[in-house]
Amino acid sequence: MQLAEVVTKLNRLAPLRLAAAWDNVGLLLEPSSPQPPIQRMLLTNDFTSAVWKEAESKNVNLIYCYHPVIFAPLKRLTCATEKQGLLVRAVEKRVAIYCPHTAMDAVEDGVNDWLVGGLGDGMTMALETLNGNPREGYGRKMLLNEPVATLDEMIARVKSHLGLKHVQVARCSKTDPIRIVAVCAGSGGKVLESAKADVLVTGEMSHHEILAAVERGSHVITCGHSNTERGFLHTLKPRLEALFEKAIEVEVSEVDADPLVTE
Ligand SMILES: [Zn+2]
Repeated sequence: MQLAEVVTKLNRLAPLRLAAAWDNVGLLLEPSSPQPPIQRMLLTNDFTSAVWKEAESKNVNLIYCYHPVIFAPLKRLTCATEKQGLLVRAVEKRVAIYCPHTAMDAVEDGVNDWLVGGLGDGMTMALETLNGNPREGYGRKMLLNEPVATLDEMIARVKSHLGLKHVQVARCSKTDPIRIVAVCAGSGGKVLESAKADVLVTGEMSHHEILAAVERGSHVITCGHSNTERGFLHTLKPRLEALFEKAIEVEVSEVDADPLVTE
């Protein structure tokens, strides 16, 4: 499949107009014409040297990297830093890179719907809606059909959904059953700032944001930034295979991981 056709389909899956104004999304690295047809695609949360090695060994033509591989404007493209050096290698090997980031956070059935979907059943809406569509925008809030009796049970659900042994928890003084849970994949401090929920679940929040949330009467569960994003790629793989009608082999990176572990 030609890259242009692949990009059109990816843009339809998570429209770029949904991305935050500060973000940098879409096709960020494009080989010159005549472009190699896209036969293999690697899904990753981050573009690291380990992921690049894997992409090279798997002969992929396209890397679908959730976080933007180019964010701050570049004044040069050299190998002076590891990050830029990886981009140079990708250019030389004629590998394209596509980054959906906040477009995929905001779209219905994107990262945040996946994140909240594993915590229970209930009515879901965006915390910051876009275009008047309550199911599109940043963060998600779920009104649980069945209240969860204890915070411990909600912690167990978070761990099970994200495949984690450990999360960090800030408990507020409330001991009532949990009826409303609010989530934001990645760094959720700003989006969750005014969320009225019994529990906030995110990748990371600052010390002061956590203190303020607890004072407002919400428990906080932080899971590590990319641990709240990466699992989505496994649900995306079959969707992309269907989107490309199996014309492209789609793989999820085996080496992409959160840099922080609890020891
Ligand atoms: Zn992130």
